[in-house]
Amino acid sequence: MVALDVSHAARAARLGKPKAEGMRGRVTPQAVSGRYRRIKWGMLVACLGLYYALPLLRWDRGPGQPDQAVLLDLAHVRAYLFGLELWPSDVVLVTGVLVAATLGLVLVNALAGRLWCGYLCPQTVWTDLFLLIERRIEGDRRERLRKREGPTTLRRVVEIGAKHALWLLVAVMTGGAFALYFVDAPTLLVGLATGAAPAAAYGAVAALTLTTYVLAGHAREQVCTWMCPWPRLQNAIFDPKALCVAYRDARGEPRLPAKRALERRAKGDPAGDCVDCAQCVAVCPIGIDIREGPNFACINCGLCVDACDGVMARISRPRGLIAYAPWEAIEAERAGAPAPRWRLLRPKTLALAAGILAIAGAMVGTLATRTDLAVVSVHDRNPAAVLLSDGRVRNGYAVTLANRSLAARTVVLAIEGLPGAEVTVAGAEAGNRVALEPGARRTLRLVASAPAETARDVAIVARDPASGVASRTADVFLLPAR
Ligand code: SF4
Ligand code: SF4
Repeated sequence: MVALDVSHAARAARLGKPKAEGMRGRVTPQAVSGRYRRIKWGMLVACLGLYYALPLLRWDRGPGQPDQAVLLDLAHVRAYLFGLELWPSDVVLVTGVLVAATLGLVLVNALAGRLWCGYLCPQTVWTDLFLLIERRIEGDRRERLRKREGPTTLRRVVEIGAKHALWLLVAVMTGGAFALYFVDAPTLLVGLATGAAPAAAYGAVAALTLTTYVLAGHAREQVCTWMCPWPRLQNAIFDPKALCVAYRDARGEPRLPAKRALERRAKGDPAGDCVDCAQCVAVCPIGIDIREGPNFACINCGLCVDACDGVMARISRPRGLIAYAPWEAIEAERAGAPAPRWRLLRPKTLALAAGILAIAGAMVGTLATRTDLAVVSVHDRNPAAVLLSDGRVRNGYAVTLANRSLAARTVVLAIEGLPGAEVTVAGAEAGNRVALEPGARRTLRLVASAPAETARDVAIVARDPASGVASRTADVFLLPAR
């Protein structure tokens, strides 16, 4: 069992050590190069490229329809995702996506801990971008720390001003791109540029600009440590079989300067591979010393792995003193036992993957059987049924029709499962025909009268005779209370 420290500050205090940098003040991460840094740059470019470009992509849906590939049309309560159009009645699909995404996060956690946090979380991606800007303007870690302690010169003021100006530019672009997902992007861009956009658009841009600037520029690691719920969950869902970034202390301790370690090894005395250079701490965006043990705030970004691998290469020791490894393997190494290997396929990961596939399958099935004509009915409540003078029974229903197609259509309303029924639809044309414009919704009152002896299940059917498309909804035909 692994105890995850709430913070290194508490542990440092117990050991009488100075607090880690992250607990003392602002974390100032050093630049690092290596395999995981390259992967993170790749992820950053892909995520930002996707975020800024998606609302600009066009998708031809025919005349009178929005031609934006990804659009959350709040005004018409519809969402467009390339060839897919979602209506409020498709909430089950949205729920399916959310449940599958949650299971996906749990699956990733079962495989490799907080991998999402280290590579794909927007907080990580935007913080990386803001740190890149800071580094380009103010220099790497040492230079930034020196300048922060130094006098306020004109050059320093210009640097700080340039940094904040660029941060604000990125924040405005982020907020602007966010607003583009909700209305036609080219129209809104022109409106924003000319001051003709609606006030709500300026409000959305301002809110996202502010949150991006504060969270990515100023709050940074504090968000990952204290604001995000994941670290709190991590205590409960930590999986010793999942990959986590870990310091292999059985190999690294006792930590010694490289020269002394060489001397001790020459004499046959034990010497660890860690040279106590603190490079792993300097590059950490959270300010963690991973050598203290697993930490709930660690985002599994692998930058300390890159830093330590670089040090190991320079002192001609094998790489991997800090590595992605299952925690049970680290404990086995400590006990001198063979380290279990990380396994992709385990009952837990298979069960989670099966759950995601089942949800995906159900969603595909729902999409495949979905028609572009929807009908929903609500039975009258009071009175639920009326006995007519000729002995027949009358029931009333509020029927809502939605034409999700791009063409105008006429549908015929009828009731099934009720022999001898006479149906009238208030507001309909002759033959209970209802005209629906493309994308239109209409609610009408349907009244059915029949010589019924018992209550029965019925179906209200909307049929488009021109296309043959039909949609039905289950309801009941009730008898009056005796
Ligand atoms: S980078 Fe490697 S060698 Fe240097 S302190 Fe960290 S674990 Fe030790
Ligand atoms: S300890 Fe290593 S993996 Fe964890 S956040 Fe810091 S640099 Fe990233």
